[in-house]
Amino acid sequence: MGGWSISNLFRQFDLVLEAVRRGRPPHFLILHGGSAAERRKGFLRLAALLNCENTAEPGCGHCLACRKVMNFNHPDVYIVEPAKTSLGVEQVGELRSKLQRARYEGRYRAALIDRADKMTAEANNALLQLAEEPPPATVLVLSVDNGETILPTLRSRAQMVFFPVAAEDAAPEGDARALALAGGDAALAYEISLGGSEAAAERLARYEAVLAAGDFLRLWPLAAEWEREEVRLLLLTLAVRLREETAAGRAQPARLVLVKKALADLRYNVSPRLVLEVLTLRLLGRGGKGVGS
Ligand SMILES: [Zn+2]
Repeated sequence: MGGWSISNLFRQFDLVLEAVRRGRPPHFLILHGGSAAERRKGFLRLAALLNCENTAEPGCGHCLACRKVMNFNHPDVYIVEPAKTSLGVEQVGELRSKLQRARYEGRYRAALIDRADKMTAEANNALLQLAEEPPPATVLVLSVDNGETILPTLRSRAQMVFFPVAAEDAAPEGDARALALAGGDAALAYEISLGGSEAAAERLARYEAVLAAGDFLRLWPLAAEWEREEVRLLLLTLAVRLREETAAGRAQPARLVLVKKALADLRYNVSPRLVLEVLTLRLLGRGGKGVGS
């Protein structure tokens, strides 16, 4: 396979590929760090894996679908680059209409927006709409040197995938705790391990202690301390926990619904503190108004 294979450095990206192999492809990724060439290679690897015809060796690199992806002529794989110095709204619109058409021959469509930091404000808005209503069987990927240059509203909807620069190996390795917190979801495990799985486990334990004590006041210091991203990860790990407990008959499904509603509120930029307070009141069975109710 030669230059086709990705260096071992990209273990974080490998977690994404692993999620695809398990039949759980992401909808929206932001690849950042490393070099533009490495990120593009990663995108092609992902697009090939999504459409590979070789079930024995998915992402084989030599079946017809893989070769078309590698040669940039797979009809369901798109790469968009800034047409001029910036990437305009008409380019995003064009991509959007392509993604809304039926697929030609692939199982999945994959679209890469390269140098996504060059998007104009209008292009960003158009992309935000696309990310909010993703077309089915489509993986949307942004590639950018510095992930911080992407709008927070877009970042909050995407899975961030960091490509380490050569010789730097920040990849979280074999993080069993993150995988357990994520209920075996490799993509979520990756997100958890980025912020530290120990901290994530501690947040979950502290929050569960509030619920167990039935004491709403104990939430306040926590809600004041935790940032939006920390609250988001807390809710995601709490959802995993509740899903497991519901499956085991130890929790009411309605509790999981409440957590999902809180996650939706968080995505709509409701303050993380308010989201936590409302959720906690509801989980403690005190109803509570606000946040879209
Ligand atoms: Zn193949």
